[in-house]
Amino acid sequence: MNDATVDSTTLCLFDVDGTLTAARQVVTPDMADFLQRLRTRVRVGVVGGSDLSKIKEQLGADVIQKVDYVFAENGLVAYKNGQLLSVQSIQAHMGEELLQDFINFCLNYMATIKLPKKRGTFIEFRNGMLNVSPVGRSCSQEERIEFYELDQKEKIREKFVSALKEEFKGKGLSFSIGGQISFDVFPDGWDKRYCLGIVEKDHYSTIHFFGDKTKPGGNDYEIFSDPRTVGHEVSCPEDTRRLCEQLFFC
Ligand SMILES: [Mg+2]
Repeated sequence: MNDATVDSTTLCLFDVDGTLTAARQVVTPDMADFLQRLRTRVRVGVVGGSDLSKIKEQLGADVIQKVDYVFAENGLVAYKNGQLLSVQSIQAHMGEELLQDFINFCLNYMATIKLPKKRGTFIEFRNGMLNVSPVGRSCSQEERIEFYELDQKEKIREKFVSALKEEFKGKGLSFSIGGQISFDVFPDGWDKRYCLGIVEKDHYSTIHFFGDKTKPGGNDYEIFSDPRTVGHEVSCPEDTRRLCEQLFFC
């Protein structure tokens, strides 16, 4: 690598799924080579919603050595130059007091609703979020669909989220209803923008972001539209590569 040509004031951040790899697939050798070639021009980072083990499955076990930054779980787990930089968790951020008030409220609320079926795992505790499911995550496929159809009619999740927004107003919590049986709860800003706070310390003059889910509601929307980034919408890994060729090799 000829370091003289590297523009160390420019950072390119890439979403993983649908941007560097096909959905849930492994990166192609061509794309992996291209990322290395891109590093002769600019600094390179990846930011994924999934955990580090999943990112390693997709981008290679040595991914933290292969790019300048790896941000797993949107940056809650952050690596720079092959070294662990920082780790954040929902319990460290919220504190046990608020966290437990929140969990207790959810359990109380769920105890008051009657559904055709209830199963198990009503609250799943993850590193960066809580996932709340009135039917319970351990339901069968049939039970899942039954809940989803009822939810579309009766807005069970929507009403639940409204009650939580009212009860925990001003506590810095965001809610996202996705999939069929649950919704996510996480601190404000804990989407892909979280990693921008980390790279801020490195004073880049330009930060490009490339992602495939850049429309409102998509998991790249917030970082794509953030004033701190130059956002690029891509349709597939080949598109990402083509765009980078245009931007950095012409
Ligand atoms: Mg994606």
